[in-house]
Amino acid sequence: MMLYGDLEVSETVAAAAGRVEMIVMDVDGVLTDGCTYQLDNGEQFLRFSVQDAMGLTLCGVAGIGLAVISGRDVPAARIRMSRFPVAEMHFGCVHKIPVLEAIIDRQGISPERMAYIGDDLIDLPLMTRVGLPVAVANAMPEVAAAALYCTRKAGGQGAVRELIDLVLKARGVYQETVDEYLRRH
Ligand SMILES: [Mg+2]
Repeated sequence: MMLYGDLEVSETVAAAAGRVEMIVMDVDGVLTDGCTYQLDNGEQFLRFSVQDAMGLTLCGVAGIGLAVISGRDVPAARIRMSRFPVAEMHFGCVHKIPVLEAIIDRQGISPERMAYIGDDLIDLPLMTRVGLPVAVANAMPEVAAAALYCTRKAGGQGAVRELIDLVLKARGVYQETVDEYLRRH
């Protein structure tokens, strides 16, 4: 086992996390709590974690690539993600796997060096394609079963930050990334 702060993970997870150069994320139920606040006028509210946001910023500092593949296309999600250094943003993707394949080609990053974090059935095909498949704590059982790592935190409650911290620590760049962030701000 490997111990990162109070987070204990297997050697297999630590090795896979240490190889990650790009984190690919689902949005609903991963970056959000999975709930949609539907208004009468058709607009929707989504709820994001500010601690996840800091993690996305840290990825920019560390040079870890970020990508988003969402099954839905909600303006709030586009606006939110546009604030972070996300190299690949894809919304309204009914079939996610061709989108991931295109990202692999375009970014020139081996899928072995990618993490994917998801929560529901639409994410399953991607879980088997990447080196570090991750399920949020409250993921559907099939998704949790396909994951190499299940976060302690639920979607929209810091699950993405937990994954980012794990990747940075497994790569041995966590402290220098935090120091660099603090130096810049
Ligand atoms: Mg989802």
